[in-house]
Amino acid sequence: MMGSIMKKFIFVSGGVCSSLGKGVAASSLGALLEGRGLNVRMVKCDPYINVDAGTMNPYQHGEVYVTDDGAETDLDLGNYARFTKSALSRASSITTGQIYESVIRKEREGLFLGQTIQVIPHITDEIKRRIMAVAEEDADTDVAIVEIGGTVGDIESIPFLEAARQMINEQGRANALSVHLTLIPEVAQCELKTKPTQHSVKAMQEQGIQPDLLICRAPVMLDRATREKISSFTNVELRAVFVSFDVKTTTYELPLIFAEQGLDQVALEKMGVAIRHTDLEPWRLMMRQFHGRRGVARIGIVGKYMGLHDAYKSVYEALFHASLACGVEVELVKVDSALLEAAGDGEAVLGPAGSHPVDGILVPGGFGDRGIGGMVKAVAWARVAGVPCFGICLGMQVMVIEWARNVLLWADADSTEFNERTARPVVSLLADQAEAMRAGMYGATMRLGKSESVAREGGKLHSAYGQRRVWERHRHRYEFANRYREEMTASGLILGAFTADGSLVECVEWPDHPWGVGVQFHPEFGSKPIAPHPLFTAFVAAVKARG
Ligand code: GLN
Repeated sequence: MMGSIMKKFIFVSGGVCSSLGKGVAASSLGALLEGRGLNVRMVKCDPYINVDAGTMNPYQHGEVYVTDDGAETDLDLGNYARFTKSALSRASSITTGQIYESVIRKEREGLFLGQTIQVIPHITDEIKRRIMAVAEEDADTDVAIVEIGGTVGDIESIPFLEAARQMINEQGRANALSVHLTLIPEVAQCELKTKPTQHSVKAMQEQGIQPDLLICRAPVMLDRATREKISSFTNVELRAVFVSFDVKTTTYELPLIFAEQGLDQVALEKMGVAIRHTDLEPWRLMMRQFHGRRGVARIGIVGKYMGLHDAYKSVYEALFHASLACGVEVELVKVDSALLEAAGDGEAVLGPAGSHPVDGILVPGGFGDRGIGGMVKAVAWARVAGVPCFGICLGMQVMVIEWARNVLLWADADSTEFNERTARPVVSLLADQAEAMRAGMYGATMRLGKSESVAREGGKLHSAYGQRRVWERHRHRYEFANRYREEMTASGLILGAFTADGSLVECVEWPDHPWGVGVQFHPEFGSKPIAPHPLFTAFVAAVKARG
């Protein structure tokens, strides 16, 4: 929009402790700058040594977010996707593991011509090179917002902060800002404490970075005197001290809350950019929808990681977005599939006839056989009771298994992921994948990233999307087994979509049912509060109609 005469960089770091909402703050700033007409690119630097998040346990680290180009990344990229229009790709997620991997590879290839390889400059140069590469990938990018994971003071974060310091020095202060997020805790339920913030900024200064803007996470809005105190101790101008107070509505209100405090205005002034107009109407409309919701739709989420909200983050967010579009609140009823498996009677847990506690069932993605029996039970109950059911990836595979077992009466029908010896492998690997798996090449067998599916004319998918050709992201190994297509369809199961070449089944739909849809892809990654995903909207609308 500025014609990108000079690209700007904003480094977002955090202090005091983790989980302050750094990703949401960085994303909100991105949304506000987009409201000013700027093109924003979001980047996440993760100090962990894993090369990517693909192998990380969802219980420790939350869901794996998948980009269009098939990178398995930190869930923070999901925040960027929900708040901003930033293009996200493999390059948007930088980890210590990737940095070291490529520096060591270059060293082995002899590219450093005998130099001693050190954290400074080799590691920091590689970090800077990657940040620049994202900012320069698209000529139209005006601002790259670079979130640095971890907390200032962590050993692992030091190379990233050092790279940020160097870039601020090289680009000049007007072209590279530091935004620092800290915590203002409340002690003894009455006193707000600024000391941790003072220390956190001091730690940044020791790294050679003077924050330009501060965002203070606090239970409530801070008064002027407190902000003055923070300003005088930290060398951050009073007008550049912002407050991210606990919102009672939704974190999606934060862009508007920050706009009211002037966050984008001050950031633009500090970068020497004069843009007066701003368009936050989509966010205002979203808040009007939020307050206009009536009634509650209860949706049972049947999965195996129920103890950690972040494990199915994008699914929960997409349901919330759909609740805005449908004008109804969504209440999540989290059902542990392993417990449901052990519980005996699925109906007793999910809804005895007449007084069902849930109006819809969603089975999200997953790996491994724990709790599959519980998911099958939930799906069977929804199919027979006429309760809307949405299966995503593993969830679709479970719908196929349930159909084979209970409609075709193939008692041991299964996915070869869970039972390699089943007589009816209704979900299985493709032949060449099975070959690769036998050779131990797990990484190479995953279907990852965006591809085209073609929906059946007049089917549930077609009517939800309003078009037959759709592009969605995948992350799975196993497929609907093509050799059962005929028997499945003859018994009534509808194959609702195929890959563009017709070779793979992408969707199943239940016949004579209000809304039973399983998709092999992950629509949840493509939903935003200001643009809910049509499939989630169709599902929640069906749940609402029943509730
Ligand atoms: N475990 C299944 C597979 O690999 C489903 C994966 C998923 O749900 N993301 O095919």
